[in-house]
Amino acid sequence: MEPNTFIQLEGLDIFLKMKNENEIKEHGNRKSILKLFLLPIHFFRIIKEKIGFSIRLKLSLIYIRILISAMLLAGVGIIIIFGSTKIYNDFMYNYDTVSKILAKEVINYNDLELHAQKNNSQILIYDTDKKLLYSTKKDQPNFGYRNYVGIINNENNFFIYINKRVLISDQQMRVIIYTDISNELKETLGLAKVILYVLSTALVFAIISIFGSGKGVFRPIKEMTDTVRNISEKNMNLRLNVSGSKDELKDLAVTFNEMMNRIEDDYIRQKQFVSDASHELRTPIAVIQGYVDMLDRWGKSDKEVLQESIDAIKNESESMKDLVYKLLFLARNDKGTLVLEKEEFSLTEMLIETTKETQIIDNNHVLDFDIEEEVPLYGDRKRIKQAVRILIDNALKYTPKDGKITISLKTDQDYAKVSIMDTGIGMSNEELSHIFDRFYRSDNSRTREKGGHGLGLAIAKIIVLSHKGKIKVRSKKGSGSEFILFLPLKE
Ligand code: ADP
Repeated sequence: MEPNTFIQLEGLDIFLKMKNENEIKEHGNRKSILKLFLLPIHFFRIIKEKIGFSIRLKLSLIYIRILISAMLLAGVGIIIIFGSTKIYNDFMYNYDTVSKILAKEVINYNDLELHAQKNNSQILIYDTDKKLLYSTKKDQPNFGYRNYVGIINNENNFFIYINKRVLISDQQMRVIIYTDISNELKETLGLAKVILYVLSTALVFAIISIFGSGKGVFRPIKEMTDTVRNISEKNMNLRLNVSGSKDELKDLAVTFNEMMNRIEDDYIRQKQFVSDASHELRTPIAVIQGYVDMLDRWGKSDKEVLQESIDAIKNESESMKDLVYKLLFLARNDKGTLVLEKEEFSLTEMLIETTKETQIIDNNHVLDFDIEEEVPLYGDRKRIKQAVRILIDNALKYTPKDGKITISLKTDQDYAKVSIMDTGIGMSNEELSHIFDRFYRSDNSRTREKGGHGLGLAIAKIIVLSHKGKIKVRSKKGSGSEFILFLPLKE
């Protein structure tokens, strides 16, 4: 039983397989036919995408549309004017001649017949009861009585007719004049064909030149796109070509270049900042590592080494903490997340507090105060104190032992002026032009034991500017420096 079932099943399997193969084939055929039908839609979609993307193509199509409309208007106009003038002239000629013949006292029906023969027209005269009295071309069926004016078609010939009242032998009659306008229509059709051929040929040339002419106009855009595509962080100095005529594209290129200059400056500054910051951090880390190694080797037994290492590590970690704090401040400022907690406070009281603190930590200098009584200020007390501290610390750092440092507070109409004047090493003009740059330290202070990281003044400047104030510096090499903070009294 079992093997039989198996054979049967196998047969069924093959049958199913064959059926599937046929189905797949059929399905494939159906798919290709469907594809063939969908081809125009696909083609249309590609063109639509192109139009959506390419300004050049869009403009070209607009020009072509305008051109076709203008040509159509001109062509149809010419044909209508030509055709109607021809028909009108022929009709009027027929009408005038018939009117003249019928206006004579004795009507010469021969003339009427001759005229009708020559112009292939038909003239019918009816009495007021619409009874036919006379007809030209008697051998042909007449077109019958008709009111007013109109056009009829007879055996591929077109006739324009008019119903006219006439007096014949003092009797009221109606004359219907049929004018054959087939020739005029044929001529007009001929002219229409010529116009169609001429305009189509002109259109083909115009379309080719419209598509071709866009290339030159849009070449600068392509060049710009290529240049912009090549700009990367490794290639930031690439700029757009702004030579050539002055047009909107040049304006765009100049503006783009200016923007790139700013971005490049910012980028270089950021890179410099990161490299300076890591450099500043590397030194204390190396020092700490050195002392830790020393501790590991000799510190356990040598008390002197132990103390020296502890002091050094303390100093360096203190300096690192200070550096990281300053870096965080600058990063927050750059990110725009620096928050000022402004309040009304006494600048006098804050300065007295700061000077007292200075007296506690420093007894190497002569401190002098000239602080005005009660100057209220609206601002971030903590930050302003931080800026003042930076200036006082610098004055202490860069003024030799026993030098004088004067802290004063004065006001004028608009500003509270906090001055920190020292009799220290002073600065040259060259140094002065850089002291607010991040990580700048003069050669002199670089070698000094107490040299900072070159971030203090940059931070003080940010604080003062964020209070809409300003800083003035006066300094003379070897004689001393004066830093004045101008803080606006009115917010
Ligand atoms: P630092 O932490 O190095 O003092 P700052 O930004 O506060 O950094 O100052 C930048 C540089 O300006 C100092 O390295 C020093 O060369 C100079 N400088 C600042 N204040 C004084 C001053 N009172 N006298 C002389 N030089 C000063």
